[in-house]
Amino acid sequence: MRASQILVPTLRETPAEAEVISHKLLLRAGFIRKAAAGVYTYLPLAQRVLKKIQQIIREEMDREGGQEILLPVIQPAELWQESGRWDVYGPELFRLKDRHGRDFALGPTHEEIITFLVKGEVSSYKQLPLLLYQIQNKYRDERRPRFGVLRGREFIMKDLYSFDKDEEGLDVSYRKMYEAYARIFKRCGLKFRPVEADSGAIGGSDTHEFMVLADAGEATVLYCEKDNCDYAANAEKAKAMEPIKTNFEEVLALEEVYTPGRQTITQVAEYLGITANKLIKTLFYETEDQLVAVLVRGDHDVNEIKLQHLLDCLRLELAGEKTVQEFTGAPVGYVGPVGLQGIKIIADSEVAVMSNAVAGANKPDYHYKNVNPGRDFSLNQIADIRIVQAGEPCPSCGAPLCEARGIEVGQVFKLGDKYSKAMGATFQDENGKSRPYIMGCYGIGVSRTMAAAIEQNHDSNGIVWPVSIAPFHLVIVPVNTKDINLVKLSERLYLEYINEGIEVVLDDRHERPGVKFKDADLIGYPLRLTIGKKALEEGNFELYIRKTGETSFMKEEQLKIFIKDYIKREQNI
Ligand code: ATP
Ligand code: MG
Repeated sequence: MRASQILVPTLRETPAEAEVISHKLLLRAGFIRKAAAGVYTYLPLAQRVLKKIQQIIREEMDREGGQEILLPVIQPAELWQESGRWDVYGPELFRLKDRHGRDFALGPTHEEIITFLVKGEVSSYKQLPLLLYQIQNKYRDERRPRFGVLRGREFIMKDLYSFDKDEEGLDVSYRKMYEAYARIFKRCGLKFRPVEADSGAIGGSDTHEFMVLADAGEATVLYCEKDNCDYAANAEKAKAMEPIKTNFEEVLALEEVYTPGRQTITQVAEYLGITANKLIKTLFYETEDQLVAVLVRGDHDVNEIKLQHLLDCLRLELAGEKTVQEFTGAPVGYVGPVGLQGIKIIADSEVAVMSNAVAGANKPDYHYKNVNPGRDFSLNQIADIRIVQAGEPCPSCGAPLCEARGIEVGQVFKLGDKYSKAMGATFQDENGKSRPYIMGCYGIGVSRTMAAAIEQNHDSNGIVWPVSIAPFHLVIVPVNTKDINLVKLSERLYLEYINEGIEVVLDDRHERPGVKFKDADLIGYPLRLTIGKKALEEGNFELYIRKTGETSFMKEEQLKIFIKDYIKREQNI
């Protein structure tokens, strides 16, 4: 490609709307442009990166026996009604009507339509396992589309669905995909971690998310750094260790204390001269059918996902101040478990082992001292319902956990028979008995992976593409386009390298070398070959490596070998 002809509208200034680095750089380096909130056009350089990521994905899916198909984006509402998701998916689902008034949805994911397909076309265990995948645009009317293509409303996803005859088969398919995902993200040059995750609305049992560790990540990952321990989990899922009671202080008599105007944990702790871990935090939650009181230690937070699983409810919301006041007789800052009647009290397991704690007295401006669970109030249920924090023991080996931000680039799910059962998708087993398919689903955000790669690979000058997904390998920069000999030499190398299969751009624009170097750094070509006087007169070529910042001079024969070796070596990381 010639830089004078390719559409790469680089920008000097960083657009104000961009918050995270990948969004800024994708705009500035001329890779994407916004069409609407969360909807983007991919320009030529981005399309090349996306195609490379897709190629890596295709190779690894095919290697595991995946067969590529293409499902429709427009899906009839009836299928979503059959699975039950038409009502529960909520406003994230883009819904539309055709001219006859029939309801449709733009696919945010394709479990329904693929289950419908397989139900019609596959009938015997002999045809299983079946691994079908596609790479396609997905549509989700996200509540907060942001960070450019990291969270779009239209985005590219690879989704594979596995159909097995039993759970053992699903285990095999799941393992295959898990391993393929690890290879894909490694080949894309990403530092990632598979983490245990929560299955959320999609349903099913086992699930792992593949997280690219980067500050822009919206998820919190807890992981163990100890050698030979690979525990890692999304903070939503991370398990707390069962507490051991270590505090055997003498149990004191309950005492009411005056705490005027002290409503928050920090204020009460400060006023009473104690640390937050001596306080009991009492929260009230409403579900579709009950109000519950939830207790965690003052320095802990409720994990609403764990709580929702425990309560097995569809809706879970913090109760409003008015409800709390009506129920307890005190404003939110003074509520506590002592004396509560007619409500289920759920305590985090750390609360159950507290002694002589402080809690609200259900009376304005008062707290209780020396609250002892069991003695002063009864616990209806004790469970792990809090968010695990960094420094807490790893549930697998006991070493302190570390915390990092993560971008979810992929997720693998065991769905079981959730969709096949709801949609009556069955096959005949060895004994002629009809059984529902045992399914799994496996997604990779292709456009999000491109952005995540930038979050991990950039510097103050721009993008530093991993070679395997770089839009081009090399840019040739003639420093003076008016020097005919210099131009001739550049053209000769350019054509020669194309023939050698090197992906090369010739920066033939009539710009100053400084401008070209800046653009080359911003776009992130892994290699830059400068053609100047030294090359022309002495046959000495200057090659710059973007990743290391190193510049070397070499002769023409050496140069080609070096470039080819570098590309090959870096692609095999
Ligand atoms: P998130 O929790 O980030 O909203 P998700 O868990 O809803 O994602 P999945 O249904 O697991 O997403 O989709 C599979 C993959 O698609 C994700 O791992 C992610 O890489 C990508 N993805 C999901 N939502 C978006 C989005 N709005 N924009 C870009 N990529 C997305
Ligand atoms: Mg997910």
